[in-house]
Amino acid sequence: MNNMKIIKEYVLEQKNLIKKTVEKYQINKKLVIIQSVSDGATNAYVKGKCKDCDEVGIAHEVIRLDESAHDIDYLVNLIKKLNIDETVGGIIVQLPLFDGWDVERVQNAIDPRLDIDGFHKLTKFLPATPRGMIDYLNDNDFSFTGKNAVVIGRSEIVGRPMAKILLDLNMNVTITHSKTTNSDLRHYLENADLVVIAIGKANFLDKTYKFKENAVILDVGISRIDGHLVGDCENDVQCYFKSPVPGGVGLLTRLGLLKNFIDAQME
Ligand code: NAP
Repeated sequence: MNNMKIIKEYVLEQKNLIKKTVEKYQINKKLVIIQSVSDGATNAYVKGKCKDCDEVGIAHEVIRLDESAHDIDYLVNLIKKLNIDETVGGIIVQLPLFDGWDVERVQNAIDPRLDIDGFHKLTKFLPATPRGMIDYLNDNDFSFTGKNAVVIGRSEIVGRPMAKILLDLNMNVTITHSKTTNSDLRHYLENADLVVIAIGKANFLDKTYKFKENAVILDVGISRIDGHLVGDCENDVQCYFKSPVPGGVGLLTRLGLLKNFIDAQME
């Protein structure tokens, strides 16, 4: 394994390549982002996705729903219309939805070929966060086969898909969760070559945890403390590489989305 690339620089390089692909294949279909809840964090996520599209030359449109005027049937019908709109190349339904709306029904209304979030039950896309992390590891020549991975957290969008991909890449995968004892977790971590943590508990892994010298830690968690973004792992634990928060997996996730969008146009 080489020195791991600085994620911000890696993402810039990759975006340049995507921009060239957009130009070369004259990709002109648009990404549609449907936003329900409009709080600070959600607005920031949507804004970030639009900025990414602008940077690489992908057209985009944000459709904002109004809780007092729209219901879930309206959203599902809107998605059905977008599915057959020739100008649409990808659809993202930004989460969270309004309280009580059935997320799975909405996600499964999207044509799987346009589901660049990778949440449809028949999707062929990896969810953006695992895709971003796997591409990053591959591009750093991380060696997967026969190595030990610990995935902390078992959500449908990060922990589970990531564990499955790592298993498919011939790693020995341990998945831990809220019922794992702390002494077991420490034991697994001491032997891990790769740690992926996605639990949403600020600085859960601190300097009292011991890692291998060559351990790579990908920190997915995002918590907001006093207006600052904090990961699930302290940034200065002793290991080979730890992805920073901010400026780490969040950027890789946004890159994963752009790559899924490009793949959707290459059908
Ligand atoms: P989630 O649905 O919030 O589930 C949390 C998972 O963490 C559950 O599996 C839970 O275990 C586990 N967990 C909770 N407390 C734990 C503990 N003390 N020890 C071990 N495991 C524990 O997960 P998510 O949607 O994947 O989100 C996790 C975090 O990642 C959040 O901070 C989210 O904001 C962030 N995130 C970031 C990105 C990004 O691009 N950077 C993308 C997605 C998510 P049980 O199953 O036993 O309850």
